[in-house]
Amino acid sequence: MSVFKGKSVLVLGGSRGIGAAIARRFASEGARVTFTYSGSPDAAKLVAEETGAIAFQTDSSDRDAVIARVRDSGPLDVLVVNAGVAIFGDALEQDPDAVDRLFRINVQSPYHAAVEAARKMPQGGRIIVIGSVNGDRMPVPGMASYALSKSALQGMARGLARDFGPRGITINIVQPGPIDTDANPEDGPMKDLMHSFMAIKRHGRPEEVAGMVAWLAGPEAGFVTGAMHTIDGAFGA
Ligand code: NDP
Repeated sequence: MSVFKGKSVLVLGGSRGIGAAIARRFASEGARVTFTYSGSPDAAKLVAEETGAIAFQTDSSDRDAVIARVRDSGPLDVLVVNAGVAIFGDALEQDPDAVDRLFRINVQSPYHAAVEAARKMPQGGRIIVIGSVNGDRMPVPGMASYALSKSALQGMARGLARDFGPRGITINIVQPGPIDTDANPEDGPMKDLMHSFMAIKRHGRPEEVAGMVAWLAGPEAGFVTGAMHTIDGAFGA
């Protein structure tokens, strides 16, 4: 398949899980893929070797490093912001520095990366950010900062869609439910609780999320922008 032949794609956070599946999907369809990683150099090396993608160590909690990486990778046809973290536990007990780091990775970097990418992006460029169904529904305690961060992406997409629309650049949020990755393994202790909320009682696969991202980046999705696209087995329904 060569849907993305000759297209330049940057995935922020592509060494593992959903981001690695997205990098693989674009590479398999002919794109020139660059991705970033932070704490997993060995995993990044494997994905790079397998796909021919170029990997850069860039910490998404460092706004200026992210902006520089986007600038130096441009002009991009597609930007995917996947890097994200969660912290769990009583809000009254959480370290405020850890909360602010989460906001830097999950909210600030997506915003600044999207704006920087749009500077040089050609007509028809695509920006896709991985949010979460927790932006719509947070059914358990202890994850308010994560839910806040994923809800914030919704406002970002609605607003930036207006800014970039005149140039035919789209920006969309993909909102997964439970997906089987290191961050949320299907054999983890929360499995039964999570599946109890769902109509399709299994974790999704990273490749299923990558398929939705590829559609949003592809030629059929040019009229789709400022929108949330939930892929969650009806976790949020
Ligand atoms: P993983 O923890 O399995 O992988 C996270 C990826 O993001 C890794 O490649 C990691 O790279 C990268 N990353 C994390 N922090 C940073 C950082 N500071 N700088 C650069 N890269 C970073 O997570 P998932 O694949 O499960 O999640 C990916 C996205 O999907 C996140 O935004 C998450 O919130 C979202 N999501 C996941 C769900 C799930 O159930 N799995 C459900 C809903 C949303 P490295 O290891 O090299 O640091």
